Amino acid sequence: MSTPFSPDESPHVEALRGLALTSDVVGYSADPVFAWNRDRDPARRVVLASGGGAGHEPMHAGFLGRGGLDVAVPGEVFTSPHNGQIVAGVQQVARSGDEVLLIVKNYTGDVINFAIAAERLTADGCRVATVLVEDDLGSEGAAVGRRGTGATVVIEKILGAAADAGDGLEELQRLGEAVAERSRSLAVARASHTRPGGGAGFEVGDGLLEYGVGIHGETAAETIEDPGLEALVERMVNELLDALGEAEHGHLVMVNGLGGVSNLELAHISARVAEVMADRDAPVASLVSGTFISALDMRGFSITVTAVDDPGWIDHWLAPHATALPRPVAAGVVEPHQGATDESAGSRESSAWLDDLAEQFAALRDPLNALDQRTGDGDLGTNIAQGLSRAARRGGGDLGSELASMAGAFLDEVGGSSGPLFGLVLSEIARAAGDDASPRDLGRGLRSGVEAVRRVGGAEPGDRTMIDALAPAAERESLDAEAVAAAVEGAESTRTMTARRGRASYLGERVLGTPDPGAVAAALLLRSIAERSGADLGDLDTSALLD
Ligand code: ADP
Ligand code: MG
Repeated sequence: MSTPFSPDESPHVEALRGLALTSDVVGYSADPVFAWNRDRDPARRVVLASGGGAGHEPMHAGFLGRGGLDVAVPGEVFTSPHNGQIVAGVQQVARSGDEVLLIVKNYTGDVINFAIAAERLTADGCRVATVLVEDDLGSEGAAVGRRGTGATVVIEKILGAAADAGDGLEELQRLGEAVAERSRSLAVARASHTRPGGGAGFEVGDGLLEYGVGIHGETAAETIEDPGLEALVERMVNELLDALGEAEHGHLVMVNGLGGVSNLELAHISARVAEVMADRDAPVASLVSGTFISALDMRGFSITVTAVDDPGWIDHWLAPHATALPRPVAAGVVEPHQGATDESAGSRESSAWLDDLAEQFAALRDPLNALDQRTGDGDLGTNIAQGLSRAARRGGGDLGSELASMAGAFLDEVGGSSGPLFGLVLSEIARAAGDDASPRDLGRGLRSGVEAVRRVGGAEPGDRTMIDALAPAAERESLDAEAVAAAVEGAESTRTMTARRGRASYLGERVLGTPDPGAVAAALLLRSIAERSGADLGDLDTSALLD
């Protein structure tokens, strides 16, 4: 069972202290719980206050500061704050004559507590208005209205800029309501968040997705078979655009992580969103991606689209600020830089042998990754398979040119430690191979290759690396059956070695029993090259290497 690092009870209070310690503008009160901006823009006449259950960080306390909120009031995790907290938070910052705008997400507890706070503040002589956010298409048609989710971020960003520009209460309320009306969001999850105290909030079966899930884990509108990112994003964007109708000045788009997706994934999703928007002829005025409104550590993301009715919204959206709100830029056309193509990169004549080799190692990708996972980081099979597939693309006519393609592909196109090191060995073998690539030439090349790897990588025999397979083979005059057998035996022998090089060196004795994946791949590659040069390997069995 997964368990959060924060305490089960009231984690938000200590978290606010952590936020205040790492910020030069956030002030906080532990009882009642609220936080405020100590650096208000002098032009701002209206106090912007928001809040809701904790667990959605950086919203809302992270949005305190210039260009953002003045007051943020967190409740317990996924629980509305009490109206007394809201009143105390506003009173902390409101100066005489100030007006107050409350930004409220549409959940019963929030609506009630902010409404009572508004009554109490009004009774105290404040002018108070409210903007209600209800954007979540996953709850379309609910009797209580749509849930308030990602659009809250967009509205708080736009209103923050407008408030600093000196707008008054009615203007801000109208602006907030207009943006709210023209914003919709949709969220999907592949796995639940972890509840305070531990355990998943809901279960998602293998290969399934919760489509239209709420940011507190509210049951999704649908559980669907995962259609893959391309189709998933296409469906989400299409539904959002269909719900919004025509946009006179383009769209603001926010791709938001729900707490358990990587930035790499979010960037990928953003690229796909832009593609679908372009396919739909729906102009993007600005696209932003990040984690702004999370759902603890939910493995999912949301997309929010705002149809822009007034170009002023875009100016406010792009205005600089000093908070964890999005930092959007105006959308531009981005084309990848295309490096100069190297005409000498391979003969472009296809090679049946390289094609076959690429296929064999594609099938070995998972078993080799599994070996690397036990002793390193689980990518060696991917690296080798990628090198051979690139080599196949370069092609070759005879073994000499095929080896040159392999060397070029591994040196220039494969990462990790193994890619360039195999590139070195293969270049030496290719250089020595010449036109006829006799076993003796290959053996000579292998010897220089081993020297090159030892020079560059600093590994010695016995250090548990590819050297332990390559060096014994290089002791033979030729790359023949005995040389390959020596490489296989060398790779086997790494099972009893601890590592002094590479990632496995962090693991000490935990690697014992598993062979070094680089040594296994080296033995398998030498075997294929020897076979291609005509060596008779008899019934040499290498299958045990992958156990
Ligand atoms: P990474 O460790 O960067 O993920 P790979 O998974 O592609 O790289 O390759 C790991 C393999 O690289 C190891 O199994 C080992 O055989 C080889 N290796 C690592 N460091 C060295 C080195 N210094 N010299 C020779 N081979 C090395
Ligand atoms: Mg690795």
